[in-house]
Amino acid sequence: MSRRALATSTASRIAGVNYINRTIAGLHTAVHEMLHNNAAADWVGVVGSEFNEGTTEWLTQYACSRLSPPESAPTCYPGQTPCVQAALNAGLSESALISAFLTGGAQRSIATWADHHCSEDWSAIKGYMQAQNWASARAALQPGAPVGVDAPGNDVPGAGDDGTRIV
Ligand SMILES: [Zn+2]
Repeated sequence: MSRRALATSTASRIAGVNYINRTIAGLHTAVHEMLHNNAAADWVGVVGSEFNEGTTEWLTQYACSRLSPPESAPTCYPGQTPCVQAALNAGLSESALISAFLTGGAQRSIATWADHHCSEDWSAIKGYMQAQNWASARAALQPGAPVGVDAPGNDVPGAGDDGTRIV
């Protein structure tokens, strides 16, 4: 990347080095880039670049809110991050998300989880994300399950969860 491009970018990673532009970056930028550096080897391949950015931003805000004093971390990915929040709202646990990001296992923790708990499968959700079709991605992340798959999201309303799971 040229010096000129660097001057207009908040952060860039070149040959294994993160360059943080001090004129427009904040502490949250360094946190965000450090998180990227520490993502599990299988993470981006399973979830795609857009869900990756949304999760990295969600984790940045999570981490910065726990600093003393808390650091504000703005939303720089207004399409991506609400999709990650939609997955959490649908029942994906924060610990499963964090573990998949940092230590691996996204195929099972994210993709298979979505296949069994969301209204569309992970392949469709990832496709919407990569197309930056945020409304469709959020809709597909709503609780539910494909026809024929029993999960909490598709039990008969009022009848309770019958406990059947596809694992
Ligand atoms: Zn990023």
